[in-house]
Amino acid sequence: MGETEFDLFVIGAGSGGVRAARMAAQRGVRVAVADDAPLGGTCVNLGCIPKKLYSFAAHYAEAFEESHGYGWSGPAPVLDWSTLRARRAAEIGRLNAVYARLLNDAGATVLRGRARVVGANEVEVNAQVVRARHILVATGGRPVVPVLQGSHLAITSDQIFDLREFPRHLVVVGGGYIACEFASIFRGLGAQVTQLYRGEQVLRGFDDEVRHFVAAEMRKKGIDLRTHSEVERIERDVDRLHVTLRDGSALAADTVLYATGRHPNTAGLGLTEAGVRLAANGAVVVDEHYASNVASIHALGDVIDRVQLTPVALAEAMALVDHLFGQGTRSVDYDLIPTAVFTHPGIGTVGLSEAQARERFGAVRIFRTEFKALRHTLSGSTERTLMKLVVDAESDRVVGVHMVGADADEIVQGFAVALKAGATKAVFDATIGIHPTAAEEFVTLREPVVA
Ligand code: NDP
Repeated sequence: MGETEFDLFVIGAGSGGVRAARMAAQRGVRVAVADDAPLGGTCVNLGCIPKKLYSFAAHYAEAFEESHGYGWSGPAPVLDWSTLRARRAAEIGRLNAVYARLLNDAGATVLRGRARVVGANEVEVNAQVVRARHILVATGGRPVVPVLQGSHLAITSDQIFDLREFPRHLVVVGGGYIACEFASIFRGLGAQVTQLYRGEQVLRGFDDEVRHFVAAEMRKKGIDLRTHSEVERIERDVDRLHVTLRDGSALAADTVLYATGRHPNTAGLGLTEAGVRLAANGAVVVDEHYASNVASIHALGDVIDRVQLTPVALAEAMALVDHLFGQGTRSVDYDLIPTAVFTHPGIGTVGLSEAQARERFGAVRIFRTEFKALRHTLSGSTERTLMKLVVDAESDRVVGVHMVGADADEIVQGFAVALKAGATKAVFDATIGIHPTAAEEFVTLREPVVA
């Protein structure tokens, strides 16, 4: 091999790519990272961060409403969509600059342009071929919209943050994380929202009780959530969209959001030409060290389509850098990955659903509570909270923690540590609660509802 210009060339400056580039550069190796989009990838620009900012914005509407029960009064507040958009954009711009600074400070070379693999150790960017000992593909994913008549009239989560006009009537198609989150957020911000899901119940893969509970809460907030609903076609009529469903019914909307999954971003990257094996959906096939079948080309994050979550991409990046340039002792444990869905109310979960636990362990004990949170005794809200523990009957280990309710995301993170440490139900029982909180219920669930 001739002299290389870089030890690591990272394609894609999203969560995984930036973490790998920074960690490698800090070890003193020569690193380049290329991207033609703003630094930070989907999470920072079009995903987790702006989504959560909009979720905060939506929660204010409820908070204003609920404050009357606590004695507050005043005129009904009005959302200025353009202010929210502009303030979000400014914050994301600040984060883009933070990413640039982190990379520069670590000593990585940032190349602004679209990169393409042109050989096992060669990448072309801005019409120049750069040689690299290792290439890392961290190009993430992109939303996919099924082909149907008028699907070009729909938008995806890539466009939703910057809609010029606030959608008064939004139709959301899908029943996964993104569909449920945006249905909740835009309902909270004041839109009329209809969510169409093709199956029996939204959030397939989550605990069934959680799915039914959150669907009921979303409906209580005013989302017209329709299951067994499939879109046949979308048509434009002057400034309105008409959505015709397979059952012949029709809906009018300003905006139709498709959130029907994301596919790995490998098109046009030169990977197939370089001999890199891709799965049917375009994902780079990698081994336990994130190496493709071409030994010098690696991939991680959404582009390998294992777990599409930012913290997983970060962990994979740390493991890869350790493997390539460090001790090689670090690996990613894909077991017990906690996750949250930012619906209103939100979901926090770690471990197995009741059905998965039954399949794996046979005998399980289920502990559950469902209640109105203290805050809502005065707020007037009818929102309820669900908390559920799944315990392996034989070992007494808690194998699933599930919550729907305020702060579920924050609460479940700590319980994920307990599950990682192998906590048993007896350990939960021996833990003193913090009073008065919702979280304390997780350590005061005495009697199983199913034993
Ligand atoms: P998901 O895979 O979670 O959900 C896709 C949804 O679209 C499912 O309900 C699926 O239905 C439905 N669907 C798929 N194809 C079609 C079709 N042809 N017609 C109608 N409906 C269809 O994808 P998302 O796009 O919501 O999110 C992608 C990933 O991003 C998530 O899986 C998650 O890993 C990550 N993410 C994480 C977030 C978080 O951590 N809070 C937030 C947002 C995204 P069915 O169930 O029947 O297959």
